Amino acid sequence: MADTKVADTVSEQEFREAALAFLRAHAKPKVREETSWGEGSDEVAIFREESPEEQAAELEAARSWRHATFDAGYGWITGPRRYGGRELPSSFERLYQAIESDFEVPSQAPFGIGLGMVAPTILAHATERAKDLYLRALYRADLIGCQLFSEPGAGSDLAGLQTRAVRDGEEWVVTGQKVWTSGAQHSDIGEIICRTDPDLPKHKGLTGFIVDMHAPGVEVRPLRQMTGGASFNEVFFTDVRVPDDHRLGDVNQGWTVALTTLMNERAAIGGGGAGVGMLNPRRLVDLLHQLDRQDDPLVRQQLAEVYIGNEVARYTNLRAMEKVKAGQLPGPEMSIAKLSLTNNLRRLSDLLGLVLGPRLTADSGEWGTYAWSQLVLGVPGIRVAGGTDEVMKNIIGERVLGLPKEPQPAR
Ligand SMILES: Cc1cc2nc3c(=O)[nH]c(=O)nc-3n(C[C@H](O)[C@H](O)[C@H](O)COP(=O)(O)OP(=O)(O)OC[C@H]3O[C@@H](n4cnc5c(N)ncnc54)[C@H](O)[C@@H]3O)c2cc1C
Repeated sequence: MADTKVADTVSEQEFREAALAFLRAHAKPKVREETSWGEGSDEVAIFREESPEEQAAELEAARSWRHATFDAGYGWITGPRRYGGRELPSSFERLYQAIESDFEVPSQAPFGIGLGMVAPTILAHATERAKDLYLRALYRADLIGCQLFSEPGAGSDLAGLQTRAVRDGEEWVVTGQKVWTSGAQHSDIGEIICRTDPDLPKHKGLTGFIVDMHAPGVEVRPLRQMTGGASFNEVFFTDVRVPDDHRLGDVNQGWTVALTTLMNERAAIGGGGAGVGMLNPRRLVDLLHQLDRQDDPLVRQQLAEVYIGNEVARYTNLRAMEKVKAGQLPGPEMSIAKLSLTNNLRRLSDLLGLVLGPRLTADSGEWGTYAWSQLVLGVPGIRVAGGTDEVMKNIIGERVLGLPKEPQPAR
């Protein structure tokens, strides 16, 4: 456990030395080998397609690394000390991430939603009891969280959701169905938005809760996606009881709660948190050489556009994140960052289609060719997750450009 008395006054130099000592004792330094064409794995995917056994192994490794980092004081560097954080400025978090990136450590992807979206919402809106129960446990990976927002009839129009929560004394009874719930299969808790007053206008009759994913009446069913894997699920709720102290925010104020989570979700995706910051320019250039397309002016033009687009997406996201770190409310910058990233992934898909042609649709066994189909098939998903491209454009049109509001037929 970190010595939080020392942590209060630690200098960046002391912090750096302690972090390095911890990492040297617990992880191997990264060997940056320049692998040649045809060597090692040729996997390039947005959503990794793993068997249940591979998922379990990845989760186990991720969990033990998170236990070790949390117990050493690097699991929630900026967080309140009451919940196991160190209350250090975000520059210390960036410093730790930079140091850790030189070491081989297990992917923390299984905790992306719980830490990137659910935990910040609990910190902002939960009761003290729920904060005590869940924040430390989420950051230490004793528990995993998922986001239970979308329904079969409510995605972009999230406020139209129908899952009901009805008050019964000091409890609520939840009934309904959620869909596209990433990671529900290994989650312990979920952030759920329910309709608590069907007579109020749709944005006003919603309330957020933390629901126990192991409670009686919760059923998780996997959904298979076109890439072959099953990383998300349908979740059914039948008379699931949720204590009132697991409510997020005030009754019928769930829209504000949902917006907190959605802003954090867009920031995570725009920043490459969903595994999409992986564009490796060298791999692309090698591919062009292998296919003897490196001198084709049209291909070179598209490659330059992809590279520039990648940098634009990266800088836009950094600008948005700086605003958040400065304590300002995340705004439409998050939507611009997400749209820049997805526009660029679309450009990349077009370039891959142009140079690979049939090799993208039929596996000839040739290294580094058909493998790109996993990335291309994942792009539509990332264009939808966390708010579709069209919805991002509406936000930018209305909130940045001041265009008239989208007509709302549901009203
Ligand atoms: C990879 C992935 C992971 C996900 N993980 C989760 C999760 O963990 N938890 C969760 O709750 N949800 C999750 N989702 C669901 C996601 O939030 C929804 O898919 C998304 O909000 C879109 O909703 P929908 O699928 O119902 O599409 P719809 O809202 O039905 O949209 C259909 C089409 O209509 C367009 N459209 C809709 N409204 C407008 C408008 N006003 N103007 C212009 N065009 C419009 C959309 O752009 C889209 O092209 C995930 C989705 C994906 C792809």
